[in-house]
Amino acid sequence: MKKTLITGAAGFLGSHLCDRFLAEGHYVIGMDNLITGDLKNIEHLFGHKNFEFAHHDVTKFVHVPGSLDYILHFASPASPIDYLKIPIQTLKVGALGTHNLLGLAKDKGARFMIASTSEIYGDPLVHPQTEEYYGNVNTIGPRGVYDEAKRFQESITMAYHTFHGLDTRIVRIFNTYGPRMRLNDGRVIPAFMGQALRGEDLTVFGDGSQTRSFCFVDDEIEGIYRLLMSDYNLPMNIGNPHEITIKDFAEEIIKLTGTDQKIIYKPLPKDDPMQRQPDITKAREILGWEPKVGREEGMRKTFEFFKTLTKEELERTEH
Ligand code: NAD
Ligand code: UDP
Repeated sequence: MKKTLITGAAGFLGSHLCDRFLAEGHYVIGMDNLITGDLKNIEHLFGHKNFEFAHHDVTKFVHVPGSLDYILHFASPASPIDYLKIPIQTLKVGALGTHNLLGLAKDKGARFMIASTSEIYGDPLVHPQTEEYYGNVNTIGPRGVYDEAKRFQESITMAYHTFHGLDTRIVRIFNTYGPRMRLNDGRVIPAFMGQALRGEDLTVFGDGSQTRSFCFVDDEIEGIYRLLMSDYNLPMNIGNPHEITIKDFAEEIIKLTGTDQKIIYKPLPKDDPMQRQPDITKAREILGWEPKVGREEGMRKTFEFFKTLTKEELERTEH
């Protein structure tokens, strides 16, 4: 039986990865310090004979007894409001955390994957973004703590691959959404859905002409799984190329939720990227992967999830 360590297991993507690897027959160790995650996301796995949870901060030395076949390092604050609130921890989990886990992978002879991001392209001057684009990042801007941690993470991972021959994978994840997103994580989909459910107007930042391309979580997990199982060592974009402006997206959500809220405009946060769309030619050609779930279906499933939250949970949101 393959043994797999997943960091960030109590988070949005980490918890879906735990489900997937258990379904594939792996023994899964989920590791998390719960700084932005929630045990609720994995409570259905407690009692599963092939799952164990380790409450640990990966910026501290990571010890796992026995063998390990795969390590997926997904621990990191991922939402702008999170990494603005905890900038040092964000830098540390990308830098020190990655170094610790690379050391562990080397020790165990495990295949190692990092969750990189479209943010390494910054506010991109090339559109859509191919893996060859070097990016346009403000190192000292508010998003720099996340972007540079992720860029360092890619560099150190490549260095372990080159100098130690470690078997590594780098997935550049573009905006992903779906059940188990945290309602108050500040990202646009939970923000708009929470506002719709509370009967508040939807807050579009700037004039809403900035674009994003949203990938449903099941598609993202499939792409990540295929990349891990492939023999491709260079960075690969995994995301949905269907791009939409944030204003049009707010209108879609108003239609989907059947509410009659208005759109109100708030200032655009500093360094908010103006456009983002993955070029997924490599994923199509090398993995035979492309997203299958359209935005309408994915958003409907996500809305169903948010509707299950209690009134108290909805009101606890400070957005
Ligand atoms: P999330 O905040 O839901 O999950 C991250 C998890 O990491 C949380 O459970 C948190 O408690 C844990 N964590 C943070 N620091 C830790 C530490 N020092 N030690 C142990 N655990 C720690 O975020 P997510 O959306 O699931 O993102 C997961 C990964 O994917 C992140 O690395 C993120 O950068 C990357 N990513 C996500 C997206 C997206 O759209 N969701 C896009 C690009 C990249
Ligand atoms: N956004 C918005 N209203 C909100 C939250 C976000 O208009 O209440 C915008 C934000 O400025 C950005 C886009 O939605 O242009 C996506 O933001 P998110 O935080 O989800 O992700 P990221 O900027 O990291 O892609």
